[in-house]
Amino acid sequence: MWSAPGYIAWVIDDGEHAHVGLAGRADRFTAPLPQLLQRFRDSFPTPEPAGPVQRRGGPIPVGGLLRRIVSPQGLLVGDAAGAVSPLTAGGLDPCMRMSELAASVTFDYLRSGNRYVLEHYDAAAMRRRYLVRSTMRRGLSLVRGPGLAELAFTGLRTPIGKAAAKRILFT
Ligand SMILES: Cc1cc2nc3c(=O)[nH]c(=O)nc-3n(C[C@H](O)[C@H](O)[C@H](O)COP(=O)(O)OP(=O)(O)OC[C@H]3O[C@@H](n4cnc5c(N)ncnc54)[C@H](O)[C@@H]3O)c2cc1C
Repeated sequence: MWSAPGYIAWVIDDGEHAHVGLAGRADRFTAPLPQLLQRFRDSFPTPEPAGPVQRRGGPIPVGGLLRRIVSPQGLLVGDAAGAVSPLTAGGLDPCMRMSELAASVTFDYLRSGNRYVLEHYDAAAMRRRYLVRSTMRRGLSLVRGPGLAELAFTGLRTPIGKAAAKRILFT
């Protein structure tokens, strides 16, 4: 089954709750999302929920960092700034990095009143970090079937693949 075109579907048991999720390119979904999620869930031997079920969802901002993320009125950080890896849709690491810089730039600006200090919070420099990932995302978007994706994951299990994944996904 190819229910999450372009992204991933997951089932995670955190010991207390089961998380079943699905993310993909909306323009390539073959059925409404709730139906795809149900189909995906049915393909795993998950027990019936023993308590309340919570549902949530929404778009993930994978289009890259916004051009303008700072002004004397405020700074954008994390998801609000579009700081989400185009490849993995993960945003925790970039959010933490940006927060540190945002706090330091804000402190310097409030202390000095010099608006040029804000230029240190530079979207262009941060956007460069995403270039390789954006290119890989475009490549991944061309994958139209599970076979090629399986092959790619097999490659990621080799020593070279693991090293590449570590560099691309976790730095
Ligand atoms: C299911 C799921 C799994 C994920 N897994 C990963 C992962 O494995 N690795 C990874 O790197 N990233 C992951 N992410 C993405 C990651 O969670 C986000 O990129 C990250 O949390 C962004 O941080 P943020 O502070 O920018 O935004 P958020 O964490 O969304 O924080 C925004 C906060 O603002 C609050 N808020 C919103 N509007 C208002 C308002 N008007 N007034 C006051 N408060 C408001 C919200 O309640 C929220 O607490 C996942 C996301 C989801 C949904």
